[in-house]
Amino acid sequence: TPSSPFLPIKCGRVEEINTQEENLTKPMPNLHIMDPKLLQSMVYDALVWSSLHGLVVGDRNIQRSGKVPGVGMVHAPFALLPMSFPESHWRQACELAPIFNELVDRVSLDGEFLQDSLSRTKKVDAFTSRLLDIHSMMLQNNKNEEIRLGLHRSDYMLDEQTKLLLQIELNTVSSSFPGLSCLVSELHRSLLNQFKEQLGLDSGRIPGNASLSQFAEALAKAWKEYNNPRAVVMIVVQTEERNMYDQHWLSTVLKERYDVSTIRKTLAEIDEQGVLLPDGTLLVGDHAIGVIYFRAGYTPNDYPSESEWRARYLMEQSSAIKCPSISYHLAGTKKIQQELAKPNVLERFLDNKDDIAKLRKCFAGLWSLDDSSIVKDAIERPEFYVMKPQREGGGNNIYGDDMRKALLRLQEEGTEENAAYILMQRIFPTIAPSLLMRDGICHKNHAISELGIYSAYLRNKENVIMNEHCGYLMRTKVSSSNEGGVAAGFAVLDSVYLT
Ligand code: ADP
Ligand code: MG
Ligand code: MG
Repeated sequence: TPSSPFLPIKCGRVEEINTQEENLTKPMPNLHIMDPKLLQSMVYDALVWSSLHGLVVGDRNIQRSGKVPGVGMVHAPFALLPMSFPESHWRQACELAPIFNELVDRVSLDGEFLQDSLSRTKKVDAFTSRLLDIHSMMLQNNKNEEIRLGLHRSDYMLDEQTKLLLQIELNTVSSSFPGLSCLVSELHRSLLNQFKEQLGLDSGRIPGNASLSQFAEALAKAWKEYNNPRAVVMIVVQTEERNMYDQHWLSTVLKERYDVSTIRKTLAEIDEQGVLLPDGTLLVGDHAIGVIYFRAGYTPNDYPSESEWRARYLMEQSSAIKCPSISYHLAGTKKIQQELAKPNVLERFLDNKDDIAKLRKCFAGLWSLDDSSIVKDAIERPEFYVMKPQREGGGNNIYGDDMRKALLRLQEEGTEENAAYILMQRIFPTIAPSLLMRDGICHKNHAISELGIYSAYLRNKENVIMNEHCGYLMRTKVSSSNEGGVAAGFAVLDSVYLT
């Protein structure tokens, strides 16, 4: 019906697509000639499926949607069909996960490496500086984290020309969408099955995605190691969170499958209600906290006052298992990523030569701004670089002409400020036509994808309890967009169709 909210199907930017090329890069139905009626049915069914299965986020058009569950829900942005991806590269990404887990753990134990690598950044980046202050206080107090939990997501793009799977970044804090990404895989399977005759695609080529259950399992196992049956898992949340359902999925599975309770607290609330007992137990309100799972605290915006920093410091001092600890958090910064890519640095942390070679193979070009020949090249050919500050959450990188200007300014001023950034080789993935769903409207676009592999690492002293990949997140965005965040509004959730 014309009054239906998602009609007409809006096909933004439908440039003429070369059909032959399309078939080579994507064994998907030719979107250009796809029957509009079929498309409409698929869109309709996908929207129904998302609503009924909790593939939802808070609607930014509705005021209370970031505060009150059940108010103003809208389907999460998603791609209507999965994105094809070579199976070999998919396996490669999965194999890398436990190696990166181990690397993060080793790096986190080398306090000197973290402090030294970030020492120049500290002078010019107030946020990183505050994190480092907490870290050095822990070093001074000889605070050891005997039980360590990492819930990471390593993101990759497949460079079209070189056919290399290259790491974009490794997230060690607040890796988002473990709760929703597995639903997208299920949605796609369901659509492929339902429209099997028309699409001719095999739902078995969408790899299983257990992101939610495996992250819940890791949190539950960590909680068990803490060994206080009365303790709860505390999710540190932002004051407003439109992506709350992604987090509620984890809480629900923790409760239903493991009988572990969660509470949700903002940093300000933790400052207000938190108490540290002499034995290190963190009490928030009436609850002893076994595991602290951060879904906030990764951006300066989360620390509007000293209160939030007090909360972060309080938690770090406690015996609760922090996901992440301050060391894990710092180990995931972009500056550390760039330091680890320097010759002979991985060797400092890992013994296995094969593992080192595997990691190095996925490293893109990464440079500090001290490298004057690279800076010169980036000024001359900005399209081949990305300039990154020490920030998370999307929307912070500098590209193209903005980058050229920023680099020229830093050069002229000759300040220390250049230590706030790194330069990275720009990766160019294959562009493929895609159907991107947002607010009930289907947009046909040329798009590129970024594959994230979730992983969990849990150890108690010398005992590694969990070290594995935990499902995936495919994100697809309009090819002309630089940034990739789903929550930031640049990308949609997607899944993988192995080719
Ligand atoms: P954040 O921690 O904010 O997510 P990222 O390093 O992941 O920072 O960068 C954000 C987005 O920018 C990525 O999701 C990706 O879409 C794009 N991007 C980052 N690095 C590169 C790169 N080297 N080449 C191409 N795109 C990149
Ligand atoms: Mg990140
Ligand atoms: Mg990212």
